[in-house]
Amino acid sequence: NQVLLEVKHLKIKFHLKNGKQAKVVDDVSFTIRKGETVALVGESGSGKSITSLSIMRLLPIPPGEITAGTIKLNGKNLLDFKNKEMSNIRGNEISMIFQEPMTSLDPVFTVGNQMMEGIRRHQRISKKEAREKSLHLLKEVGIANAEKVIAEYPHQLSGGMRQRVMIAIAMSNNPQLLIADEPTTALDVTVQAQILKLMMKMKEEHQSAILFITHDMSVVAETADRVLVMYAGQIVEEATVRELFMNPKHPYTTALLKTMPNLESDVKRLPSIPGTVPPAYALPEGCRFASRCPFVMAQCRNVQPEAIHIQDEHKVRCHLFSKKGAHDHDEERSLA
Ligand code: SF4
Ligand code: MG
Repeated sequence: NQVLLEVKHLKIKFHLKNGKQAKVVDDVSFTIRKGETVALVGESGSGKSITSLSIMRLLPIPPGEITAGTIKLNGKNLLDFKNKEMSNIRGNEISMIFQEPMTSLDPVFTVGNQMMEGIRRHQRISKKEAREKSLHLLKEVGIANAEKVIAEYPHQLSGGMRQRVMIAIAMSNNPQLLIADEPTTALDVTVQAQILKLMMKMKEEHQSAILFITHDMSVVAETADRVLVMYAGQIVEEATVRELFMNPKHPYTTALLKTMPNLESDVKRLPSIPGTVPPAYALPEGCRFASRCPFVMAQCRNVQPEAIHIQDEHKVRCHLFSKKGAHDHDEERSLA
């Protein structure tokens, strides 16, 4: 399968007001193939949203700064593009939907005006054709009374309807890549399920790839082909969805999986992972998960684990899986 997006050795710093520097994304590499759904998971503060904003070139610079790496779409480094070239890509080859559609919908324009504007920015078609296309898209996202909704303002719509409109806008120029950042988190559970289903349907119909950002492992299980687990600015595990759920390796992944509701569990009493993600301006010297890890060893505190290939498409960044790490671990156990 052909590579669509290739992020390599991406490093992003934030210059904080107190003069400190925060390494919010630290040597992140991954690829997305054409038509593939890749989930980027992790708790808030792990750098997921910053990574996605940098792909869209929407990172606030300053205080943000991309200090290393490349972000290639179809082989071309987006970081080399001029702003004008990039605005031709945004909303066209790559589009994005956010958690709260009100942040990206303009309150003073009708749904129709926003849709038509977005379409006509990238396609040379008449207003009438753009209107027809908009109506068609609204129907595609399951809005039956499209004629009415097209004339309405965002505040007149429910949260679920707004998210449907956002998806229609995001798909209107047939993007090769859709970035969805927690698109269902603000919605109630039944609407969440409908919106997820709709997104996957639209992805199939428009043959787009998706980078799906979420903290919710049950969403990952339902949508993703592959999973990237992010922690404190690094990808700590990467695998196909099946492999990740059947054979998780990183202690953080295992902990995340335990936060997932199953049929018997009471959602309100799900365990959360004790402790917090270390702040990006005060990262520990060794493994960034060390302060929360039940398997922490002496070397974890001083030496950063490298990403290790444990099999095809399965990588993990943890000393337990390096030869030396496994050895030390055995030794500790035999001493205990
Ligand atoms: Fe835990 Fe050590 Fe692995 Fe980090 S490197 S996740 S502290 S075992
Ligand atoms: Mg976020």
